[in-house]
Amino acid sequence: MNNKFKSPKSEGIVDCKRRGLADRNFRGDTEVKIIIAKNIMSLIRLENKILSDNYNYIIRCNETNSFALIDPLFIDDIEHVLRNAQGDVCYIINTHHHVDHIYGNCYFKSKYPHAKIAAFDKNLVDNIDIELKDDVVLELGSLKLRIKHCPGHTEDHICIEYDDVDKGYFIAGDLLFNGGIGNIKNGGDIKKLFITVDGVKDKIHDDCYLCPGHDYFLKNWVFSKYVMAERHELFDFYVKYSIKHSSNQLMTIGEEKNYNPFFNLENKELKNKVEDICKKSISSKFELFKALRELRDDF
Ligand SMILES: [Zn+2]
Repeated sequence: MNNKFKSPKSEGIVDCKRRGLADRNFRGDTEVKIIIAKNIMSLIRLENKILSDNYNYIIRCNETNSFALIDPLFIDDIEHVLRNAQGDVCYIINTHHHVDHIYGNCYFKSKYPHAKIAAFDKNLVDNIDIELKDDVVLELGSLKLRIKHCPGHTEDHICIEYDDVDKGYFIAGDLLFNGGIGNIKNGGDIKKLFITVDGVKDKIHDDCYLCPGHDYFLKNWVFSKYVMAERHELFDFYVKYSIKHSSNQLMTIGEEKNYNPFFNLENKELKNKVEDICKKSISSKFELFKALRELRDDF
């Protein structure tokens, strides 16, 4: 590894080892799923159910064979994909600074020195080449990747919108997951998270596909059943997700709105149930959001 690139922040390394991520060879257990490969764009998702619940995404411009790596963690397997495609890495994009989202930065920057590390805050991610801002567009060959600042899980969190092909893709990092949202345990802010999630609900169109940064579906679904038990649609959610997941398809933002409790803050039964569980009255959408987040933290 090129010594001129510093390691991730020291606290990150500790966290990384605690989580069992350091010094692992991810090769062999990782599934490489082609989510889309047509027209000018390919979206590849890597997942390793044995070692981590992280998803890694690779975006490719098919016209120029140029690649953007999103939150690279599964180093060997990403490298394998790149080698097979003889591709050129233009960007290493971090949705935020948590170590499982920047772990591969040093490796890929040393392997592809002209690739640009793009993240929001240079004080939190080492060796940033492009300090991202809200609404900035990164051009990857013919593709345009729009950056949205989405604070809450962390202050530096960004998401990526791509909407030139099909119905659009929303690469959500740790902001949104299937059936849930990110936590605020490591530098987050509940008020900002509430505003950001509410904004996504309003601004991202329903047909857009959600690309979450982790697979927390099963636990989120059980939690949804706990707080939205009256809703028989939750069984449909499980079936729909399972079918889609096994055939390399994604849930849409519109489908998430039907089931994700954090998208259903106007639901009276949900409010009553949470009041019942917490044994206190709730007088605003924000209070319900906060109570839900706290319940999910302890679930
Ligand atoms: Zn995170």
